[in-house]
Amino acid sequence: MIIGGSAAGLFAAYLLACDGVRVRLFDANDVLRTSPRTLIATSQLTEVLGFFPSEAIVNRINRIDLFSPHRSATIPMTEPDLVVERAAIVRLLAEKAIQAGAEIRSGYKFLNFAPAVGGVTVKVRNVKLDLIEEFKTATLIGADGAFSRVAKIAERNSRATVPILQAIVRLPSGREADTAQVWFDPETTPYFYWLIPESHDRGAVGLIAEEGCDAKENLERFLACRRLEPIEIQAAKISVYAHTPRPWGRVSDCDIYLVGDAAGQVKVTTVGGLVSGLWGAKAAAKAILGQGNYGKELGPLRRELGLHLLMRSVLNRLSSADYDRLLELLDGKTTHLLGRYTRDELAKMFLRLLVAQPRLVSFAARLLLPRGVPGRVKRFLRRTADVGAQ
Ligand SMILES: Cc1cc2nc3c(=O)[nH]c(=O)nc-3n(C[C@H](O)[C@H](O)[C@H](O)COP(=O)(O)OP(=O)(O)OC[C@H]3O[C@@H](n4cnc5c(N)ncnc54)[C@H](O)[C@@H]3O)c2cc1C
Repeated sequence: MIIGGSAAGLFAAYLLACDGVRVRLFDANDVLRTSPRTLIATSQLTEVLGFFPSEAIVNRINRIDLFSPHRSATIPMTEPDLVVERAAIVRLLAEKAIQAGAEIRSGYKFLNFAPAVGGVTVKVRNVKLDLIEEFKTATLIGADGAFSRVAKIAERNSRATVPILQAIVRLPSGREADTAQVWFDPETTPYFYWLIPESHDRGAVGLIAEEGCDAKENLERFLACRRLEPIEIQAAKISVYAHTPRPWGRVSDCDIYLVGDAAGQVKVTTVGGLVSGLWGAKAAAKAILGQGNYGKELGPLRRELGLHLLMRSVLNRLSSADYDRLLELLDGKTTHLLGRYTRDELAKMFLRLLVAQPRLVSFAARLLLPRGVPGRVKRFLRRTADVGAQ
């Protein structure tokens, strides 16, 4: 049984149904009419899905321009990033899951589960009829997003979240449709602002904020500076990856797997959760099909997400001047590597990046050094990083 019929839950449903497993998926909302959201995903999307989701792709990005207050850098992509319409990919995965034999029930809100003989009893509310129904299962997948109730009951824990706010805007004429832009402004967010074009004249401008900071005000100011008018607003809180707790367990005689945002399978550098959530769903499906163990299957994803966590701990410490310095360090070799390996292949790229630009090591080390380290050591590391930037 699966709770949550967005990307992660539906992909697990599709994979399991393809292998002949009886799948029942419940979602509180209408799976075929989910709200639109413009997402950018790396080319690893096709790799993890095993097919190219052409119906959901609205644009391709060949270049990413990065801006700090006084510097800029360009990353030419070897494989283009894909601009994805979430409602379309959810619909596509739902159709595939139904065709493969999965039973999808929209309008059923998961309430709780309790131990039963041979598994657990799952309680859901039929929202339309306002009826409570009970189902028994020995395998439960929680794919119910950042505020996962399955995770809350299984782990007695909630995941950390960050707010994402995005406006769909009309773009001025003559803009390149294949170039995304990213602005670092640590005065207003430790993350960044972005512009992802859907076409020549339409795009998504957004920011990831911190809990408690005024994301709406910051986005409005950002849009006003660029004379962009929002047509539509898309917003939600997204969970972020942490090393613990592990996203699987056993309650009574039932195996419980958490996938997607419910498991915090989100890259904390960019707060991108589409590809990593699908990756988690695939690992859970493999474990259920007896082709592996979820912990083992998740190993590469956890390593990848752990590296993003490490990078985020460096990025969270950067000032505007540090971002200027960082972009200066991005020379031809490093931008080539950043374009050749995707954001979902950090483990493959990481050491290569440090070899190509060793000054990144002193740049990061200075920021990560504990408070007690003498100032002269920090000044030495800053000079070492600066020399490379000249
Ligand atoms: C504005 C915005 C922009 C984003 N941009 C990007 C991007 O560019 N690239 C990227 O990779 N990621 C991006 N993300 C993150 C990405 O959208 C999520 O990581 C991804 O959608 C998570 O998918 P999921 O299937 O795990 O969960 P969700 O999409 O959150 O789906 C959870 C599902 O569970 C259902 N549900 C919840 N509670 C219950 C319940 N009690 N009972 C039954 N059903 C329930 C919900 O109805 C929903 O269908 C963005 C997010 C936002 C908000």
